[in-house]
Parts: sequence; C-alpha cells; structure tokens
Amino acid sequence: MTETTPRPRKSWGQNFLIDYNIQRKILDTAEIRPGERVVEIGPGRGILTKGLLERGAEVLAIEIDPLLVATIRQEIPSPSHLHLLQEDALQYPYHQIPSPYKVVANLPYYLSTPLLFRLLEERQRISRMVLMLQKEVAERLVAPVGEKNYSVLSVMAQLYADIRIAFHVSRGCFRPRPDVDSSVISLTPLPHPRVPIRDGALFGRIVRGAFGHRRKRLANALSDAGFPRDQVDAALRKIGLDPARRGETLSIAEFALLADTLFD
Ligand code: SAM
Repeated sequence: MTETTPRPRKSWGQNFLIDYNIQRKILDTAEIRPGERVVEIGPGRGILTKGLLERGAEVLAIEIDPLLVATIRQEIPSPSHLHLLQEDALQYPYHQIPSPYKVVANLPYYLSTPLLFRLLEERQRISRMVLMLQKEVAERLVAPVGEKNYSVLSVMAQLYADIRIAFHVSRGCFRPRPDVDSSVISLTPLPHPRVPIRDGALFGRIVRGAFGHRRKRLANALSDAGFPRDQVDAALRKIGLDPARRGETLSIAEFALLADTLFD
C-alpha cells in the first residue's frame, strides 16, 4: 500500500483481505476465464480486483468510498480492463450491465443481506456469484427447513439458486480484524425457480409474513401480515396444512403451494 492509503472506515464495513491464499481460493471458486465479465462490489484496496485482472477478466468495480477509488487508480495505473465507479452498490442499475456476468465480492458486512436480495433480483443475468459474507449469513443461505438458521433469506435464495459454502475464512485474514468469522459462498442462479410459483411477489410476502412472528401459528402470523383471515384459513384447509404449524416449519414447496392457493 502507498503512504496515502486512507484509514479504514468502519461505517462502510472496511475490513480488508490481506491473505493472498484466500484471494487465490476465491478466484479459483469463481473459475474466472479470460475475457469474462465480472462485477466486483466494494473493491476496497483492490486485492480481488488485481487478481481478477491478472486472470483476464473484464472488471466493473463499484466502490462507495472516493478515497479508495483514488487509491485503486494509483495502484492499477493502466486499467484497460477495469471500469471503476464511485457509487453505492445498493443503488446501482445492474440491468444496464450486458449479461451474462459473474459477481465476485468481499461484501461489507453491514450491507450483505440487502445486497444479496438486490442481486437475487438480477439473477437471470448473473451466471455465478462468489461472495464473502459473515459466516452466520452464509449459514442462513444454505440452511434447510428445520434448522435453526432457516429464514426468509434461506427460502428466497434457495428458491432461485443453488448455493454452497465453499470455505470458511478466519478473522485473522483481514485488517482491521473483524468481530465475526466469514465464509465464501458460491451461488449459481437456476434457470427456473426450484418449485413453480405463479406470483413471485406474493410468494415473498407470504414467506416474510410467516417468518415475521416466529412463535406464532402460521394462520395468525399471516393474518397479522395483512392477509384476510378467512382466505388464509380456506387456503390452509384446501391444501391440508395444519394452521397451528409455525411458519418456520414450512418447506419451500409448501410455501409455494400456499402462495399459489392464495393467488387463486
Ligand atoms: N474487496 C476488498 C477486500 O477484499 O479487501 C474490500 C472488502 S471490504 C469488506 C468492503 C468494501 O465495500 C469496502 O471497500 C467498502 O468501502 C465498500 N463498500 C461499503 N459499502 C458500499 C456500498 N454501498 N457500495 C459500494 N461499496 C461499498
């Protein structure tokens, strides 16, 4: 790093990777091919950016911190395959990026869940995401029904993608050292949802409603979330789901059945 490297800003989740073995493993997991388009969110001081460029990727890097953008411009002097933008990745119009592309990122912890939901909206244009996240979020992403980490994020992500935890990363691999451990996940969007659903937005509302009050029975939780009680009762009766079950016990297929029945 140069002497002008700015101090890390905690509010932007700036924990920089310093371990080149982890950098290599992330790039290997992403299986970068020369000429491939890659979007990197939060390039920071550029450890992944440099590796992506070395492997021949065409990189679009979106960094919110103007000081880090200036640092990367200094460190990567002839960026013919790098398009570096100073923008908020949550607001970025991803639909403007020619598809397909991969997303490779060490996400800022404070924003990883909203960014995941945002990227899932763009899934049809993305061939793979390789993301470093806090371990707890990675575990939620892959949690099956019945596990304690099963959540809205598990259902929505698994509906639309195959996800695996590639490897875990200890906090000692970053400066400054974060308060949590991390994991790298590989997420491959499916061409079609894992189970057929008629209305994705309604499906999402039902899942959020069902998990909204974890301790409540499904019928109560959904009516609290604004679904008319008589319609919820009728739908549950029709598909033979016990209204006393709690939302967190429903599989993705059961959520889909419930959503389609309420859609009717
Ligand atoms: N990729 C670098 C690495 O691996 O060392 C930095 C990772 S650091 C965990 C997260 C990066 O995301 C920081 O550079 C931070 O400034 C940037 N960031 C935070 N919020 C952002 C946002 N809303 N949009 C774009 N970048 C953001």
